Amino acid sequence: MFNKPKLYENRDECCGCTACQSVCRQNAIIMVEDEEGFDYPIINEKNCINCCVCIKVCPFK
Ligand code: SF4
Ligand code: SF4
Repeated sequence: MFNKPKLYENRDECCGCTACQSVCRQNAIIMVEDEEGFDYPIINEKNCINCCVCIKVCPFK
């Protein structure tokens, strides 16, 4: 089964820096605003090739 990479378990593990979105060559990551107005990355599984570059670039990992 295809498991997409997990950018964060909880929102306090993401500062919304958009580094993951910038680095994704597949354009698989979009930033989505939550109810408090903070942007969090969401991975589109259809575009994701599971290269995990987004995980490597994340300053929280
Ligand atoms: S694993 Fe690769 S393709 Fe998938 S969202 Fe991350 S950078 Fe993009
Ligand atoms: S790189 Fe990490 S901290 Fe930055 S937006 Fe992506 S998941 Fe959040």
